[in-house]
Amino acid sequence: MIDSLDITIQKTENSKLKDFDPSNLKFGHTFSDHMFVADYKDGEWTDLRIIPFDDFSLSPANSALHYGQSIFEGMKAFKNQDGEILLFRPEMNAKRFNNSAERMCMAEVPEELFMNAIKQLLKVDEDWIPDTPGSSMYIRPFMFATDNFLGVRPSETYKFVVINSPSGPYYADPVRVKIETEFTRAAKGGTGSAKTAGNYAGSLYPAQKAKKEGFDQLIWTDGATHNFVEEAGTMNVMFLIDGKLRTTPLTSTILPGVTRDSVLQLAKHWDVPVEEAPVKVDEVIKAAKEGRLQDAFGVGTAATIAHIKEIGYEDQLYTLPDVEKREFSARLRDYLEDVKRGKIEDEHNWIT
Ligand code: PMP
Repeated sequence: MIDSLDITIQKTENSKLKDFDPSNLKFGHTFSDHMFVADYKDGEWTDLRIIPFDDFSLSPANSALHYGQSIFEGMKAFKNQDGEILLFRPEMNAKRFNNSAERMCMAEVPEELFMNAIKQLLKVDEDWIPDTPGSSMYIRPFMFATDNFLGVRPSETYKFVVINSPSGPYYADPVRVKIETEFTRAAKGGTGSAKTAGNYAGSLYPAQKAKKEGFDQLIWTDGATHNFVEEAGTMNVMFLIDGKLRTTPLTSTILPGVTRDSVLQLAKHWDVPVEEAPVKVDEVIKAAKEGRLQDAFGVGTAATIAHIKEIGYEDQLYTLPDVEKREFSARLRDYLEDVKRGKIEDEHNWIT
């Protein structure tokens, strides 16, 4: 059992809090005063510490830089009306982090260590949690290899780090997406279900190409046939077709999203028919043509619900119903935003 007492705390003497303007925050640009760091060596986590946010010094032979043993998580903290700090299903992030670690042959971070690091750091940087409407504290736990060695093999040493980034409201304007039929985010048996750096690096080129073609984001399809829908950008993707909520099941190519799981639970709870089965691109396009595609949206921590307004496929553009008319996804978004901020009862025990 790793107790919070095992974390040493060294507070900054140069707080940047006086220059912090919570009314003018973008995503991922501002960082709180402190960070959590722990080092893995000889089979255990050592030197658990909260220290001033600062640069690392790395050897040019650092193996994470060369071979990409690097994983991360993304989650948010909010303050409720009583000033208490709330986390949404953080144990799911801890578990996913360790699933990513296992897939990438990295050290396990015990769940108590993961949770304590996040909780203690939030307490130390409590004044950085923005309480302006729509804003949140974005939490970024990550781990990378620290062996200085150019051979390809799992590192024997790692750093586990948590940084906090106060972030403003995520204006989720409805997006125009392109169904990708050339490039692949994740291949069967690959690393798609892990939250590892290389997956994101590999997605940049196709996403940039789609931007040049006038799209905001991609809908990824399966690598073997490009006939099945997988994810949307860095979100899981869902469709409402003929009154049924459709999403692809969790396979080796899908990141198991916390939001995805929560939305599926809510839909079942609200008696909305749910089908977790492969979703054919042709089915989506046919439904769009026939006016049966009632809704399509990405689900993820950053935006919660990101509505899709247009789908591009094989040089055709399909327009979806007005976002204002999409009651189910609006209800989902409002429910999740409110429960995360402690504004409504936490009937599913999701809040820590
Ligand atoms: N898929 C990918 C590839 C992602 O990066 C994310 C963001 N973590 C998600 C889905 C959504 O996951 P979550 O709901 O846990 O944020």
